[in-house]
Amino acid sequence: MEQIMYKSTRGSEKLLTSAEAIKKGIAEDGGLYMPTSIPKVTLDFISSMVDDEYCERAYKILSLYLTDYNKDTLHEICRKAYSDCRFKGGAAPVVKLDEKISVLELWHGPTCAFKDMALQIMPMLLSEALKMTGEDKTAFILVATSGDTGKAALEGYRDVDGVKIMVFYPENGVSAMQKLQMASQEGENVSVVAIKGNFDDAQTGVKEIFASKEIAEKLLEKNTFLSSANSINWGRLVPQVAYYFSAYCDMVKSGEIKLGDKINVVVPTGNFGNIFAGHLARVMGLPVNKFICASNKNSVLTDFIEKGVYDKNRDFYLTMSPSMDILVSSNVERMLSLIADTDTVKSYMSALKTEGIYTLSDSEKDALKSGFSAGFTTEEETADTINRVYHNKGYLLDTHTAVAMKCAEDFNEKTGAAEKMLVVSTASPYKFATSVLEAIGGEKGVLGIEAPEKLEAFSKKEIPLPLVKLHEKRIRFTKSIEKTEMAKEVLEF
Ligand SMILES: *Cc1c(COP(=O)(O)O)cnc(C)c1O
Repeated sequence: MEQIMYKSTRGSEKLLTSAEAIKKGIAEDGGLYMPTSIPKVTLDFISSMVDDEYCERAYKILSLYLTDYNKDTLHEICRKAYSDCRFKGGAAPVVKLDEKISVLELWHGPTCAFKDMALQIMPMLLSEALKMTGEDKTAFILVATSGDTGKAALEGYRDVDGVKIMVFYPENGVSAMQKLQMASQEGENVSVVAIKGNFDDAQTGVKEIFASKEIAEKLLEKNTFLSSANSINWGRLVPQVAYYFSAYCDMVKSGEIKLGDKINVVVPTGNFGNIFAGHLARVMGLPVNKFICASNKNSVLTDFIEKGVYDKNRDFYLTMSPSMDILVSSNVERMLSLIADTDTVKSYMSALKTEGIYTLSDSEKDALKSGFSAGFTTEEETADTINRVYHNKGYLLDTHTAVAMKCAEDFNEKTGAAEKMLVVSTASPYKFATSVLEAIGGEKGVLGIEAPEKLEAFSKKEIPLPLVKLHEKRIRFTKSIEKTEMAKEVLEF
């Protein structure tokens, strides 16, 4: 089988194995790691996965990319990460909503958000990578989160040997439930700190710490090196490719589609990791017509895909779908690396940093538009969609999935598409219970952990187990700092 190596999107480094890329997280030139070639699969290969369980499907896809890992070890890691005790009722079930639309539920893991799909397996991939590369230093995982990544990373990395983890989140940019989930995190090797700023401030701060030679040297004195669990890490991204294959196989299995039929897929998008993983699946050979990039009122990606202009110089809004409140979407760089040469990618990224804007050439724009479509929703439309879908179809959407659902409806209406539509669902409605309860006509403004209980009573849909136990937990982390103090915080921890 073909050995896959990894290189930076900005091109200036030697080739790495997947274990080395996962260990490093981000390249020294500031670029993201990408495979030097994308493995291809046939319909027969997809067909061979139809009767598999999720962990087997994940193994078959991951082994095409992580070619330096020992096969048996990788197989064991997949079995462990996606076991029933971590994902209740299956890792990535597909639920049929109506004749046209099915929903891929990615939130059956321990934190009830789709980040678990990657963050339950990533720590094991890293741990193995440390062994494979003979590493004796402690890996310091540094995370900037707009909510869900933080909790999912803390849960995945807690008490994993040879690893420490610190999470920064924007003080007013996450839901009460997310804050509570993080503040009550257990584990000896974890720390959680709030930032007075928005998600981009937190992400920029983390990127600067990663880029600092001085901090790296100081950490080295403590026998520690930095590593990332954000979706810029290849180990976060690659596990996500698997669930697109899995969903397709489930749709074949249930007779929703025939093997080889194309589908359209809508993804509620923030950092472009989820949708880019889907795009990789398509490049590998999964029959997908369009990926529809769904945004909330922070519609920077809608404009990018429609007009070919990435412009972050705009107002930033806090919305009821906070995990998508992003103006700088990191994984777009990976997409660029597939449609433009390295020097162009570099020039776009430096323009984004200095001017906050760059413009694709016509041919790059056409390449992007041939595979992607885009839409966005206002807050009113998001709430209205939750309300309609609940009352008309009896299905309870979270705020992020509602954004995608509305974009799916709009796309179908506008294009009259014949294909079946898969809507990717990224969180349990109970994680954003305050907004969901209000949207379906329940009490307004219920805060904290009362909201899920009231949502359950009102909607008659069962609350997921990990969220039930939350209010029994002790609050451990209450610290809030200025964004300029992040580096100091890291060194102290
Ligand atoms: C992280 C997240 C997203 C955005 O995913 P990206 O990979 O960053 O595009 C969407 N919805 C929820 C609930 C999330 O947690």
